[in-house]
Amino acid sequence: MSLPTLPPLREVIARHGLSASKALGQNFLFDEQLLDRIAAIPGPLEGEQVYEVGPGPGGLTRALLRAGAKVTAVERDRRCLPALEDLSDAFPGQLRVIEGDAMKIDPFHEIGEPFHIASNLPYNVGTALAVGWLSGEEWPPAWKSLTLMFQREVADRIVAKPGTDAYGRLAILAQWRCEARIAMPVHRSAFTPPPKVMSAVIHIVPAVQPEGVRMATLEGLTAAAFGQRRKMLRQSLKGVPSALEAMDQVGISAERRPETLDIQEWVELARLLETVR
Ligand code: SAM
Repeated sequence: MSLPTLPPLREVIARHGLSASKALGQNFLFDEQLLDRIAAIPGPLEGEQVYEVGPGPGGLTRALLRAGAKVTAVERDRRCLPALEDLSDAFPGQLRVIEGDAMKIDPFHEIGEPFHIASNLPYNVGTALAVGWLSGEEWPPAWKSLTLMFQREVADRIVAKPGTDAYGRLAILAQWRCEARIAMPVHRSAFTPPPKVMSAVIHIVPAVQPEGVRMATLEGLTAAAFGQRRKMLRQSLKGVPSALEAMDQVGISAERRPETLDIQEWVELARLLETVR
């Protein structure tokens, strides 16, 4: 099937008067080859459901549609809706646009079957959205993969390894039951307007959840420990019931600092806490 011819994205912006709003975290991508490469990160999308946050003028959206995806996109800025309507006309039956705040939307409720998530995230709500998608008690989750553009510093925290400055709650959340990797660094000059910092696209897929551990227990532990990351665990975990005894049983020294524990050790600690409580 031949693909529709679309106007260049710069022309779409000009035609619809879409000057970038800083408050809405608008940094647009216009390079269609780059957008096609991002849309290829989740793997073949022909006939797959994709949820996109913040389509804006529709750069990533058109790349996802070209890949054959059925896209449900939520956009807060109503100025973008006419441009997205044109896209919907060009790919009949493939694009549904919801005007609203992604922080208030449950994609599973909207789509009703498993889906991929792909987004050039607005920086002001990006981390909160990702934390929400990674935090569900239900596992495997309704999403099949996350392909997300972040500021490089956030991307580094997601894939961080123990013993590094970037390693903390976000790394543990993203890695204890998922595979997370940096799929593509993206130079700031690729965006209009260019942000102050570099970016990267992260790819995350769900893995098997370790048995006998609840998200809430692991989160409670890591929040207390990394909330005082310079302190020894003896001090930072004092307020977490049974944590010090559990550390003793697992053989983790209370003199260690939180960034020295690998994910396996955090999981073992949380598992033991489940059994003693
Ligand atoms: N996808 C476009 C691209 O790659 O060129 C635009 C990406 S831009 C970084 C972020 C987009 O998210 C903007 O279109 C902005 O209006 C939208 N946005 C910001 N906050 C939002 C929210 N809470 N819910 C939904 N969309 C939001």
